[in-house]
Amino acid sequence: MFAAMSASVNDPSHGFCRDCLSPQHGGGMRCRACGSPRLIRHPELYALAIAHIDCDAFYAAVEKRDNPALKDRPVIVGGGKRGVVSTACYIARINGVRSAMPMFKALEACPGAVVIKPDMEKYVRVGREVRAMMQALTPLVEPLSIDEAFLDLSGTERLHGQPPALVLARFTRAVEKEIGITVSAGLSYCKFLAKIASDFRKPRGFSVIGQDEAVGFLAEQPVTMIWGVGKAFAATLEQDGIRMISQLQRMERGELMRRYGTMGDRLYRLSRGQDERRVEPDHDAKSVSAETTFDTDLATAADLVPILRALSEKVSARLKKAGIAGRTVVLKLKTHDFKIRTRNRQLGDPTRLADRIFQTGLQLLEKETDGTKYRLLGIGVSDLSAADRADPPDLIDVQSRKRALAEGAIDALRDKFGKKAVETGYTFGKGRNARPPEDADH
Ligand SMILES: [Mg+2]
Repeated sequence: MFAAMSASVNDPSHGFCRDCLSPQHGGGMRCRACGSPRLIRHPELYALAIAHIDCDAFYAAVEKRDNPALKDRPVIVGGGKRGVVSTACYIARINGVRSAMPMFKALEACPGAVVIKPDMEKYVRVGREVRAMMQALTPLVEPLSIDEAFLDLSGTERLHGQPPALVLARFTRAVEKEIGITVSAGLSYCKFLAKIASDFRKPRGFSVIGQDEAVGFLAEQPVTMIWGVGKAFAATLEQDGIRMISQLQRMERGELMRRYGTMGDRLYRLSRGQDERRVEPDHDAKSVSAETTFDTDLATAADLVPILRALSEKVSARLKKAGIAGRTVVLKLKTHDFKIRTRNRQLGDPTRLADRIFQTGLQLLEKETDGTKYRLLGIGVSDLSAADRADPPDLIDVQSRKRALAEGAIDALRDKFGKKAVETGYTFGKGRNARPPEDADH
């Protein structure tokens, strides 16, 4: 599917439906498959890989999720009558309520609002769930706060069998379904513009800013859109008669640096859409995992084992790509009634081999195949470290040494001929009952 899509990278009419993810060729306001108006089309859609994800009105959304009676009411999360607004839901925002507004003012603007005291423990918990879903897409996740992060999805096409744009759309859908809140996504070629894009059409937004349009787009924006230009600095620029980014675009680097020091250099580059900063993963949140939700609940080893194998290979591929390894293997299962079971096993030394992850996961899974029906299976590793100490030659366990060698050979073939070139006995032709893990992963 990706090959067909790459071929039409330059076709501006090509895109997909954000609800059913089916491809859309040509024009039309609604999806040809499901009728949804939530279509996304962009000439660079399949060439961009830097994403920013931001949960919509996060605290308020979690409270609404947990109390459906609040669904259509204005909700303000904040610190009582004397406090300030932490988060207002979109209904409250329509009535003029803003973050950091004193509560008495917020209630003047929106007298009918339901005020809820923040439950930070709960928000942290939900934020971690969203983060874990991001980390199942790529190890390159850089959190900015409890509810937003950058993701570098470049090079993940082979892992997911889909370009980043579709992986991202699938992710936003999965968050709604699995966690019950909505997110907005921005997709671009750099962090600066990905963040601007995610803010563009909140809530449930999905915006794309490509290379070709970056300079023209920025020209029409105020300088306050530039990262690091707060109120005070904006006032300084205003005094110098600079209000729009287009003005910065006409200035020389030397002139900007003379006036504003290192900030001048930043203004020069960002106004031109130049942002080389990499997505830096969070170094202490540490696990790499892959999981999949089944179309129908599964209970038998015959159904679950091939999926475990495919997911283990995915985790291994990510570890190898990131140059890291993990010492603890974590199996995750979600039962048909949404109860989560996690089981860990610590290894003698870190691994990044699919076969070791799979064999360990298999031992953990055997104890859980007790007739329970599952809706989700995940496997991952934690206790991450650099890969150089991983999988030392094991002279005692000849079998595992052989498997490690075989896996090295398979990796080499896959690098040369593509992921589908080599399928192992466990994944070949099996697991049809589940969605293909490379598609369903989140
Ligand atoms: Mg947010």
